Amino acid sequence: MDSESGGGLVLQGMNKHFGRVHAVRDVSLEVPAGEFFTLLGPSGCGKTTLLRIIAGLEMPDEGRVLLGGKDITDLPATRRQVNTVFQSYALFPHLTVFENVAFGLRSRKFPQDEINERVGKRLEMLGLEEMAQRRPDQLSGGQKQRVALARALVNEPEVLLLDEPMSALDAKLRAQVQVELRRLQQKLGRTFILVTHDQDEAMVVSDRIAVMRDGAVIQSGTPEEVYDAPRTRFVAEFLGAANLISGKVVDGGLQTELGFLHLEETPPWSQGTVAIRPEWIRLHESPPAQNGIRGRVREVIFRGTDYDLWMEPGPLRVRSHTYKHFKPGDEIWLELAPDELVVLHEA
Ligand code: ATP
Repeated sequence: MDSESGGGLVLQGMNKHFGRVHAVRDVSLEVPAGEFFTLLGPSGCGKTTLLRIIAGLEMPDEGRVLLGGKDITDLPATRRQVNTVFQSYALFPHLTVFENVAFGLRSRKFPQDEINERVGKRLEMLGLEEMAQRRPDQLSGGQKQRVALARALVNEPEVLLLDEPMSALDAKLRAQVQVELRRLQQKLGRTFILVTHDQDEAMVVSDRIAVMRDGAVIQSGTPEEVYDAPRTRFVAEFLGAANLISGKVVDGGLQTELGFLHLEETPPWSQGTVAIRPEWIRLHESPPAQNGIRGRVREVIFRGTDYDLWMEPGPLRVRSHTYKHFKPGDEIWLELAPDELVVLHEA
């Protein structure tokens, strides 16, 4: 499926100001139908504004929104095949779970049989049948979140917008709901667009991620593409941990404070930065053939499945999966292999 069919969404040259704040800057995106797409970025980067533009709750200053190939920029929110799940869930406190989910269908005057069938199906899909007669204050955070999802899905929208829907859940429940949400989206095959500032969440659920900063999309791609090949310092540090190493280009590599490093690709600058993730640095008892650095352990942090080692020189951060127990002062060879060094595009 592509952006011309069903829930395929296209944003063209989107711009939005609030007074002097340029909240959305020249954003153009294509989300094929059936994709789980995430807008990821820190607070204030414009992701909620972009989501509200797609929902029809905010008008852009410039730019068009296309859904299934049709221009919906001027269509009111209520006439768009789009539903939103908000951070606050926005459930009606005096209505039962069943009636909360049925609300949209009742206001559109659906017959009772069809309401029973559609609501029943969604409650079952989200494991809420037993709770149909409870009120929201008799539910846990995770259950409320599922009611909000059921209520949005019962309308069978072509696009489901999710505005930080898991931020009120504790870490363990959030991890569980993320997996459920991903499975649900795959089962339904609908387009989901999620807004989050949580990079782990973005990686777990998404087919593709757009990283935003200051109103603009600065990189987009699959989670693997964005994690493995960040183009800027910001993306490298925002998605996971990264060691950033600056240097000057010399013949065949980079002269850095850590010494000479061979690179696989030639940088587009003469002076700049390369990145390497902590888990990509290999540890050796004897010097590796290339890009070896003698490191001394400064601090060891136990993380359950592995250790984080803060090393000198650097401070370089290294993730160790070995069961060898390092302690401060231990010396070891570090290999920063050329194919693990990512050349950042900015100088
Ligand atoms: P958060 O994760 O904190 O919700 P966000 O990335 O979703 O942040 P937006 O809510 O889209 O960011 O806000 C982008 C910028 O626009 C911010 O500087 C914000 O203060 C500003 N802004 C958003 N809505 C309005 C508004 N209605 N009036 C004035 N400024 C606004």
